[in-house]
Amino acid sequence: MQFTKEYFIQEFKKRLNEGYAVDIKQASNFELYQTLASIVRSGYNNAWHQNIKNNAREGNKQAYYFSIEFLPGRLLQSNLLNMGWYDTVISGLKDLDIDFYEVTEIEKDMALGNGGLGRLAAAFMDALASSGLPGNGNGIRYKYGLFKQKIVDGYQVELPNEWLNQGNSWEVRRDSKAVDIHINATEVSLLEKDGHLVPVYHGGKVIRAVPYDVGVVGFQNGCVNNLRLWDAEIPESEEVNYRTLDERRKIEDLTSILYPDDSTSEGRRLRLLQEYFFVSAGIQSILKHHKKAGHNLNKLADYVAIHINDTHPVLCIPELMRLLLDEEHYGWDEAWEITTQVMSYTNHTLMAEAMEKWPIHYIQELQPRIYQIICEIERRYVESLEKRGQAELIPSTRIIADNQIRMVSLAIIGSHSVNGVAKLHTELMKSQVLNDFYRLFPERFNNKTNGITERRWLQIANRELSKVLDKTIGKTWRYAADDLEMLLKYQDDEKVLKEINHAKYQNKVRLAEHVKKSNGLKISPDAIFDVQIKRLHEYKRQLLNLLRIIKLYQDLKENPNLDIQPRVFIFGAKAAPGYHEAKVIIKCINEVGNLINNDQTIQDKLKVVFIEDYSVSLAELIIPAADVSEQISTATKEASGTSNMKLMLNGALTVATLDGANIEIKDQVGDDNIFIFGLTKDEVTAHNQTQDYCAWDYYNNIPVIKRVLDALIDGSIPNIQVEGRHVFDLLTRFNDQFFVLADFEGYLAIQEQVDQAYRKPLAWAKMSLINIAKGGHFSADKTVQRYAKEIWHIKPVVEKDEAKYDSYQV
Ligand SMILES: *Cc1c(COP(=O)(O)O)cnc(C)c1O
Repeated sequence: MQFTKEYFIQEFKKRLNEGYAVDIKQASNFELYQTLASIVRSGYNNAWHQNIKNNAREGNKQAYYFSIEFLPGRLLQSNLLNMGWYDTVISGLKDLDIDFYEVTEIEKDMALGNGGLGRLAAAFMDALASSGLPGNGNGIRYKYGLFKQKIVDGYQVELPNEWLNQGNSWEVRRDSKAVDIHINATEVSLLEKDGHLVPVYHGGKVIRAVPYDVGVVGFQNGCVNNLRLWDAEIPESEEVNYRTLDERRKIEDLTSILYPDDSTSEGRRLRLLQEYFFVSAGIQSILKHHKKAGHNLNKLADYVAIHINDTHPVLCIPELMRLLLDEEHYGWDEAWEITTQVMSYTNHTLMAEAMEKWPIHYIQELQPRIYQIICEIERRYVESLEKRGQAELIPSTRIIADNQIRMVSLAIIGSHSVNGVAKLHTELMKSQVLNDFYRLFPERFNNKTNGITERRWLQIANRELSKVLDKTIGKTWRYAADDLEMLLKYQDDEKVLKEINHAKYQNKVRLAEHVKKSNGLKISPDAIFDVQIKRLHEYKRQLLNLLRIIKLYQDLKENPNLDIQPRVFIFGAKAAPGYHEAKVIIKCINEVGNLINNDQTIQDKLKVVFIEDYSVSLAELIIPAADVSEQISTATKEASGTSNMKLMLNGALTVATLDGANIEIKDQVGDDNIFIFGLTKDEVTAHNQTQDYCAWDYYNNIPVIKRVLDALIDGSIPNIQVEGRHVFDLLTRFNDQFFVLADFEGYLAIQEQVDQAYRKPLAWAKMSLINIAKGGHFSADKTVQRYAKEIWHIKPVVEKDEAKYDSYQV
C-alpha cells in the first residue's frame, strides 16, 4: 500500500494508543518519537529482509566495510528522507499539531566515533545503500558513545554519553547470528588429527559476540543494507569460567568504551582486544554466511570483499588466514591467495604518532595462534624480498621490528589495494612515508578522495537553501549531486543570489537562537559567521585562528573606530581527554572569548562562541549558517578533511591551506572563489628536512607576532596564567612544530581579503553559489562507486533507472 498522509495519521494514532495508552495531547515527545520510529521501521523492514534474501539467492558479491568507528548521528530524518516519506510525515504531524523538529530532538546521536574517520564510515554506509550497492558495515556497539563535553570555567569536562539508556530504535538483536571467540589462551599446540594439523588451545576464555543489526536505508531505491555492530557477552556454557565479578566486568568493558582519541595510537590492551573481537566476529560471520549459501571457499573473492578502514581492523588478515588454515584445512599458499584477493585497506594518516604498533607480547597473550600466523606471514615476506633481490627494503617494510607489530605493514602486505583519501595524501603516501612499499607494490596504490552525503548535509540540514535550489534548477540534484552544477548558469542572476543570501540569513538566525540558549550570548546574523568545527588538534591549528582573534582585539582596543566587518568566531571541538595541549587551547579560546564578549568597547564587532559538545547533529545546525569555513591545517598533515566539503556545499567560502582535499576544492571552484594562504607541502617538507625553522626569529622580528604572543603571558587575558604560558612555550621554546607563526601573516592578509569581500553581498553570493554548485563533486555516492568499481568489484543490485520509489511500503 502507498504511504499517504491519511494512512500515516491513522497509523500514528493507533500505534501511540497501543504502545503507550495515551492520546496525542497527553503524549510526551519521547512517546511521539518512539511511535514515529516504529512506523518508519515497519516501512523498511520488508525491503531489508528482501535485500538480504536477494543477495543470497543471486549470489551477489558484497563488500564488508570493517571500521572501529561509525558516526551516523541521528537516523530518523535521514531514514524518512531516503524512504520518500519526509514531507508526508511533516505535513501529517502538523495536522496533528505536533512539531516534527521538536520530536526529532529526542533522538540521541549515534556517536560511535570520534570525528572524520567514523563519519566517513557512516557516509559510506548511506552512499552504498543509496547507490544500490550490496555493502555492509561491521563494527562495535559501544555502550557509551563519544564522551559528552561540558565547558566549566572555560575548561573541557568529560561526562559519559549514555546513548543507549532509552534503547536504540534502529537496532535489531540477532541472537541466532552470535559467534564465539577464543582469547587469552596461554599456548597453542598443533596436533595431527584426521590427516590435518589442528591447533589445540590451552587455557583462555570464550566470549560470545552478539550482533545488533541496523538497517541502512538507500535513497528512494528500495535498497536496505546492513550495519552490524557487535556486543560482547559471556556464553552460558562458559559462566563457570568467569568466577569473579572482576572477570565478568572485563567482558562488559570490552564494548563499553570508544577510545576518545583520533590522532594518536594509545597502545592499550583493551583496545587491541576490541580490534580482535569485532574482526573475528565479522569474519566468522561472513564465512558462515558464505558456506550456508553453498559456496566454495576457494571462490570467496567472487562473493566477498573485505575493507579495512585504517589499521584498526587489520587483524582481519591473520584471522581469515587462521580460519582458512585451522578450520578449513587449506594450505598456506592457497589461503594467502584467497586472503589477499579479498582484503583492501585505506590509509587515513601519515603522522607517525598515529601509526598503530603493538608490542609483540600483547598479541601473543591475546591470541597466540594469531601471533604465530603473523610471524609466518613475516617470515615468508622477508624471504620473498631476499629472493627478489630487494633485501634493502626489508628493514623499512617488515611487519615485526623492535619487538612490535607494525599494523600498516601487515595491512599493505596482506591487501590487494591500498588507497589514500585525497590526491595530495596519496601522493605523499607514495612518494614519502610509504615510498618503499610503493616501490615494491606500485599496482596496489590508488587514490579515493573522501566524500560526504549531500542528503544529510544539504537536503536535511539546509532546507532553506534546498528550497531555493528546487525553485531554480529543479529537483534532479536531489538524486544526482552533480546536477548542482546547473546552478552555475545563475551566477549573475541577482534574484537567485539574493535568495541564496536570504537562505543563509535564516540559517544564521536559527543558529543565533541556539547560541542564545546554549551560551547565553547574543550574536548578530548580520556579522560574518566564521566557523572552525573539528576535533581539537595542534595540526588543525585552532591556535592560528585564536591568535588572529587576539590580534583583531588588540587592533580594536587601539583604534575603536577601526573599520572591520563584525565577525562571530564559532568553534566546536572536542579534545582527547589525555591530550593536554588540546585542552589548554580550549581553555584559552574560552578565556579570550570571555574577555572579548564582555568588553563593551568592542561594540559587538567581535564575538567568540565555543559551542560545547560538538556532534553530527550540531554540525547540521552550524554548517548551513556558516559564511567562512576555516580549513587551516599545516600542509601535509590533514589527510583529506570532510567538514571542508560539507561547508562549501552549504555555500560557505573556504579559507584554506593547500592541504588534504582543500586542494581539490580549489581545483573545482577556481582560485577566485576560495581564499588560499600558507606554506605549501614542498615548503613544509623542506623545513622539516633542513630543520631551518626558527620560531623565535618570528617572535623577535615581527612586531605583530610579538604583540599577540605577549598577550598570552602578560596578564592582559585574564585566567590563563598557566595555559597562556603553555601556549607561548609551545610556539616559541618548543619551536612551533606546526608552523603557526610562519603562516600567521599570510593568514592575516587573506582574512583581510575576506573582510573586504564580505562587504559586497552580491559578489559574495556569487562565490557562494559557485561553491554550492561544485559541492556535488564531493558526493560520497561517487566516492563509493569508485571503490565499488576499482577495488571491491561489486555491482549495483538496484539500478537507478528501475528504482522503485514506492518500495518502502506499509
Ligand atoms: C565531518 C565531521 C568531522 C570531520 O571534520 P574535519 O574538519 O574534516 O576534521 C568531525 N566531526 C563531525 C561531527 C563531523 O560531522
